[in-house]
Amino acid sequence: MKQMLPRLWGNDTLRARIGNDICAHRLSHAYILEGRYGMGKHTLAMQIAAAQSCLNKDSDAHPLPCGTCKNCRKILEGKSPDVILVSREKGKAQMTVDVVRNLRTDVLTPPNDLDTKVYIIEDAHTMNSQAQNALLLTLEEPPAYVLFLLLCEDAGNMLETIRSRAPVYRLQPLPTDTISQYISKNVPGSKNTASGDTLEQVLMAADGSIGRALDLLSPKESAPILAAREAAMEFLDAVPAKGERMHRALVAFGIKREEGRAEIKRDEITYKLQTLMRALRDLIALRRCDPATVSLCFFTDRETAGAYAMRFGTEELLRLMMAVDGAIESISVRNANVRITICNMAITAGIL
Ligand SMILES: [Zn+2]
Repeated sequence: MKQMLPRLWGNDTLRARIGNDICAHRLSHAYILEGRYGMGKHTLAMQIAAAQSCLNKDSDAHPLPCGTCKNCRKILEGKSPDVILVSREKGKAQMTVDVVRNLRTDVLTPPNDLDTKVYIIEDAHTMNSQAQNALLLTLEEPPAYVLFLLLCEDAGNMLETIRSRAPVYRLQPLPTDTISQYISKNVPGSKNTASGDTLEQVLMAADGSIGRALDLLSPKESAPILAAREAAMEFLDAVPAKGERMHRALVAFGIKREEGRAEIKRDEITYKLQTLMRALRDLIALRRCDPATVSLCFFTDRETAGAYAMRFGTEELLRLMMAVDGAIESISVRNANVRITICNMAITAGIL
């Protein structure tokens, strides 16, 4: 069977930029690859490592590695001794100076059979300042054959002195359509495990991250998302109807306890309120901007979103948003009583 080599999805502009830098021999000795969990930092790092040693890199046919030459295959299959993954020690929250000291010694040995030796440093933002300062010594005078790729979720956590020597390549969140294509191509049976609608709803919560989307395919991970979406929809339906519907919304939020229901969980309620905020944000955006240009973060189809947006006035939506935002703060920051806070929220929003 033909092995699938990793490729980066989306981020076309970034890939073209990196490809041009490599072809023009403009690559610096270190880069920070920034992106949230599951957005493709590892894949991008492997692509850069391959592109740097690709035997076809002067061809105009492609901006990044050809993926077929001897060097590309060896690197992308994870078999090159010259592409080294550096991780923090098992069980430690921080990357310590010991890891960086080992790396500094290893750097002195020239590459095995490639021209470039690539160090991919995982979770670089977990390096403590001692470790970062030790790395800085190498970044200041790196051997000519070395390329460092520092993977991190937030480049702001790196020392300014590191950032000044390692430009940031920032990964962009992927559109839900692209994630959906990825899933149907790479996860056989994904369409069978969840109905199309449910899958789409779950992918919406992945916020542009393929890794997060893959996690969400498990029912255990997706259940709270679907429950939060249901609560948000119940709430939106209850606002104009009030009365009995409001009772249903409070049950969906877990405020009114049904028989046998477990105790209120603060995190769960906060997440439900945050999900409701996303729904309200969609509706306000649809009312205030050209609907064709709005990228939705809660609703999976524009027609339904448009119909909901028509049910509310903009002022009403803003009032609801402020009430929900206040409730999130009370529950998650000020540790307020959850039931009272939600009832206050409903009163402030003019529902109860
Ligand atoms: Zn190649």
